Parts: sequence; C-alpha cells; structure tokens
Amino acid sequence: LIDRKSHMTSAVGMIHKDLKSSHDIYSYQTEVNRQLRSQIKHQNPITIWFTGLSGSGKSTIANALEKKLFEKGYHTMLLDGDNVRKGLNYNLDFSEVDRIENIRRVAEVSKLMNDAGLIVINSFITPLNSEREQAKSVIGEDSFKLIHIATPLEECEKRDPKGLYEKARKGLIPDFTGISSLYEIPVNPNLTYDTTSTTVENIVEDILKHLYPEMTKVS
Ligand code: ADP
Repeated sequence: LIDRKSHMTSAVGMIHKDLKSSHDIYSYQTEVNRQLRSQIKHQNPITIWFTGLSGSGKSTIANALEKKLFEKGYHTMLLDGDNVRKGLNYNLDFSEVDRIENIRRVAEVSKLMNDAGLIVINSFITPLNSEREQAKSVIGEDSFKLIHIATPLEECEKRDPKGLYEKARKGLIPDFTGISSLYEIPVNPNLTYDTTSTTVENIVEDILKHLYPEMTKVS
C-alpha cells in the first residue's frame, strides 16, 4: 500500500491463501442418494423460484402454494427473502456483491433440500437475469422452475405492504429494486402472472396445473 500523497510505502502484505479452499476436497457419494430420498416421499423434488418486484405478491402466492401442496401430503420447504436475510444471510447487505452471494447461498441450500427429497418454494426478488441463471446452474436445469410475478411497478407501489416504496422514494433506502436499482424482465420464465388481473387462488391452481406432473413423477 502506497500513501497517495507522500508516495511512501505504508504497508506490505502477501497473499497467503485464497478464499476458495476447495483444494484436497473430494465429494463423497452417499449410498442413500437423492433418488432414494425422493422415492420414500413419493415426490420429485424441484425448486419453484418466484421472482418479481417487492410487493408483487411472491410471498403471498408462495405461501398459498405451499399450503395447497401440504394439504395434498407433499413435503415442502419455503425460503423467503426477508427470513433468510435475518438468519443464514444476516451478514449480507444489498450491494451488488452481497446480492450475488445471497442468491448463491439460497441456491446451494435449495439444492441440498432437493437432495433431501423436498419440494422447495423460493420467494426472492432476484432482479437480474444473471442471478437467476446462476441459481439455475446450481440447482440444475431440470429441477429449476422460474415463476415471474409480473405485477406492474405502479401497482406494487400502490400496495406498498411494508412501506418500503415510500421510504425509497424519499431516498431513505439506497439501491431499492424498481426505484433506484434495476429489475430485469426474466427471459423465458416457466410461468408468468400479473396479480392485477388474477386472484391468488387462480394463480395457485394454474401453477399446480402446469407443475404438478413434474412434482409427482419420481426421477
Ligand atoms: P412480495 O413477497 O412480492 O414482496 P407480498 O406477498 O409480501 O409481496 O405482498 C403482496 C401484497 O399484494 C399482499 O398484501 C397481497 O395481499 C396483495 N395482493 C393483492 N392481490 C394479489 C394477488 N392476486 N396475488 C398476490 N398478492 C396480492
């Protein structure tokens, strides 16, 4: 490190170890595997990933969908952006680098839960195509089902269930998706819904109609 004014050396250092510590690690193939764990539950473990603006309805629909699957006897797990940020990812903020790490961890956890035989339902804004692609590559193309809750920004802002848009408009929340941070329209989502023209019940019914066969065929 060189002092900007005096150009004198202020400190020296050496890279001792990089952050990727995957050297000398070999994955172990367990005898009870994903297929066997799925068979015992009579379900095909997929990850249903909801993307959309804050207030678009992701959590409401994810909850209703999980309730329906639970009633049908399916073993599910719901991961929600706000909940995960209070626990597993409490040390991450909304900077670009931390947003990427947030999604990387959620995708890895989803994959583990799929490996455990569970149907995972995720509710995360996931604003960038690159983040969704990253999640898909971790979870696996066949297991990853992207649902875009395409409620228009004006409607989300009108609902403002957590008062976040009001705060963001006043400049109190930096990097707020839709206001001061980009939301990219998903490319080729499996399903898309606009909640201004359809009820929660109809959306859940339609999701089940499209994805139910995939959940039931044990691979
Ligand atoms: P997100 O998880 O995307 O931030 P929430 O589910 O927390 O959004 O909030 C969405 C709000 O919109 C809730 O208050 C919900 O009751 C309301 N809402 C109105 N109509 C619908 C609909 N058709 N689908 C989902 N949510 C709806």
